[in-house]
Amino acid sequence: MSEVKVRFAPSPTGELHIGGARTALFNYLYAKAEEGTLVMRIDDTDLERSREEYVDKLIESLHWLGLGWDEGPYFQSKRLDVYSNEAERLLSEKKAYYCYCSVDELASGRERARNENKQYLYPGNCRDLRDNQVEAFEAEGRKPVIRLLIPDTGTTVVNDLIRDKVSFNNSDLDDFIIIKSNGLPTYNFASIVDDCKMNISHIIRGEEHLSNTPRQLLCAKALGYKLPAFAHVPMILAPDRSKLSKRHGATSVEEFRSEGYLPEALVNYMALLGWAPGEDRELITLSEMIALFNLGKVNKTAAIYDTSKLSWINGNYMREYDTDKLAKAALPFLKEKYATENHGKMKDEEYIKKVVSAVKERAKTLKELSEIADYFFKDNFDYDEKGVKKNFKKEGTVDLLKTLKSELKGLDILTSANTEELFVRLCESGKVSLGRLMGPTRLALTGKTGGPAIFDIMEILGKDKVTERLERAIYYIENMMDS
Ligand code: GLU
Repeated sequence: MSEVKVRFAPSPTGELHIGGARTALFNYLYAKAEEGTLVMRIDDTDLERSREEYVDKLIESLHWLGLGWDEGPYFQSKRLDVYSNEAERLLSEKKAYYCYCSVDELASGRERARNENKQYLYPGNCRDLRDNQVEAFEAEGRKPVIRLLIPDTGTTVVNDLIRDKVSFNNSDLDDFIIIKSNGLPTYNFASIVDDCKMNISHIIRGEEHLSNTPRQLLCAKALGYKLPAFAHVPMILAPDRSKLSKRHGATSVEEFRSEGYLPEALVNYMALLGWAPGEDRELITLSEMIALFNLGKVNKTAAIYDTSKLSWINGNYMREYDTDKLAKAALPFLKEKYATENHGKMKDEEYIKKVVSAVKERAKTLKELSEIADYFFKDNFDYDEKGVKKNFKKEGTVDLLKTLKSELKGLDILTSANTEELFVRLCESGKVSLGRLMGPTRLALTGKTGGPAIFDIMEILGKDKVTERLERAIYYIENMMDS
């Protein structure tokens, strides 16, 4: 194990967002690449917004992605005494102070800042309270917050491994709250206390936290901690460069999962959001990523979210997936769509495997796969309208289908080889092209005009189903079709 120790610190206030998952991935890659340690920390001090069910979901999403950790999870809500002790230390060293200002008392200043379009900065009213003032506030029953004393001048520089030096004027920062009036720490305080106490060597997180970093550095300096290194990874924006939101489609790992993306494909896609393995490579496995990952190669500029690329990557993984694995992954999607109609087939592993292999080339997600495989699980599908015109309405189609049906009687079981032979023979003797027989047969068996090889479909459906469907099509052509 090296000295490298990183952490992933989600707040359990919602599902794992793609931005958070990408942060987890980059931490994971860095830890693995450097043979370091990945700590999992749950930032759950916002008691109102944090929920246990989200903790479970976060953990489940990370497991599904295959991103494990080495230490934790630690819960900040169970470490509250650590933060109060550190705050006490700052108070006793006069690096922090109690502030009794009420929200109302600060309101006019906030209002002024808003009107002047400036960032509100706490004016430092309670910096030098006299004992009698404190007593008076206490007597009123006011509950104080604790603020960190920030130098009025000078700069705080973030040495970022991705962005180099980013400098902040201390005069643009105020004496911010480290412990709220309910005794709970703020994010900035709890986060850096944990990072330093847990000996985190590198804080890798989203760029949206860059503006928090000077505050955290000032806390760390006040507490006399050794400073960790920082790496702020770029934002993920929507194609129109706006903030990514629900209207841009799936944004949480859970949503991607239920849309039928494979975890390996999502991990592959996320790796490309802000990092490139080089040589224009777009398909890369987790172990290859580990071998090539380098924080210095992470982009500074925002990454653009592109679902068509994700679908393309997913399609590739689906084709490459081992059939057993793909069948297992596809089963919940098939069950959701067809379990009530074709319950028995859902337990027939061999059948599911054959179906999945037959259609996987044509689908980009498991959901799409389950949709295009409908005729393997449903008998009462409609016939494609254009297909009806092109195939069923052609003179002689019924006779072709009838001949095929009766010739099938001679075969014990259907295989793609013996059905192909039969087709060749029938077409030669009937003096029709293979296409002339295949078109209506496909429509009769699947309701569609395109799909996997028709002989494979016949093998998978089996003799009884094929015969039944030919009969259904013959009946349809003879009785239901307006000519
Ligand atoms: N809990 C914070 C978040 O989810 C962690 C940020 C950090 O990595 O410091 O945004």
